[in-house]
Amino acid sequence: MRLISIVVPCYNEEEVLPLFYEEIQKTMQQMREEHSDLSFELLFIDDGSKDKTLALLRDMALRDERVRYISFSRNFGKEAGMYAGLEHSRGDYVVVMDADLQHPPAFLPKMYNYVKDGEYDCATTRRVSREGESRLRSFFARLFYKIMNRISQTEIVDGAQDFRFMSRQMVNAILEMREYNRFSKGIFSWVGFRTRYIEYENVERPAGTSSWSFWGLFRYSLEGIFAFSTAPLTAATYMGVLIMFIALVALIVLIVKAIIVPDPDLRFLAGIFVLCLLSGLQLFCTGMVGHYLSKTYLEVKHRPIYLTRETEETYRRKMEDCL
Ligand code: UDP
Ligand code: MG
Repeated sequence: MRLISIVVPCYNEEEVLPLFYEEIQKTMQQMREEHSDLSFELLFIDDGSKDKTLALLRDMALRDERVRYISFSRNFGKEAGMYAGLEHSRGDYVVVMDADLQHPPAFLPKMYNYVKDGEYDCATTRRVSREGESRLRSFFARLFYKIMNRISQTEIVDGAQDFRFMSRQMVNAILEMREYNRFSKGIFSWVGFRTRYIEYENVERPAGTSSWSFWGLFRYSLEGIFAFSTAPLTAATYMGVLIMFIALVALIVLIVKAIIVPDPDLRFLAGIFVLCLLSGLQLFCTGMVGHYLSKTYLEVKHRPIYLTRETEETYRRKMEDCL
């Protein structure tokens, strides 16, 4: 028998969760018909949802023994959700997918075909269109991938997603990376292994809303840059040298000019100009160093990536005790 774990991070997904459950059941059924040696577990991560998500999960876990869940003590973010899911999964293969059906379950049979013989360790989808996304967002997304791939040794594939079908070996490799500042797109790529990309057109959410705001995404992309590249640190150094050089030249020009045509205003201006430039530069560099320092600080503390408040096991036990 081969067990497939399907890990689904959920944050306020009461609207789509029933739809998702229905769809995934169809897919599991279909896959079992094609491969009789397959069994499944559904592992939902309730990332501190404020709506009825947890209630729905409890209900599902009571009715369906393939359903497991982990409920966090608060919202820890999708990255933490994925980590928890991978850590608690028991399958020979692990799938990570969103609850909002933007990662169509219909892809699973195809993905399984790629990994089942060990030819690939991972099958994943790659969006080739950004349909349904605002122009501004697409523009910045493209820009991010361009910058990222230029300054980081780890390749981040444009359009790659967190919809993945992985072998146990790759999952274990990912679990080895216990960093606190998690940027999955980088982590998946960093661990390597053979990955097969399946291209597809973007799918819109059937219900609910995306929890990503523009600024949320912006912060996340900065996270990616700081987690997988030290280029900004080097950039600050180069920029510092450049600005100092310009300031020096400007200063010399102004001094020479002031000697030829004595004008007290000129000297005064030069002073202010140099002062501004240098203090700006210093602030900038200090900020950069501070950023890396703060990241290091969080890593060094070895904080847990997530905290569990309830799981299907504790819930089932509680229900049994009540009876
Ligand atoms: N999600 C999560 N924690 C969060 C935000 C999102 O577990 O803090 C889950 C969400 O429930 C969904 C997936 O991550 O299953 C993707 O979220 P969303 O659809 O909001 O992102 P988008 O598809 O717009 O990138
Ligand atoms: Mg989504």
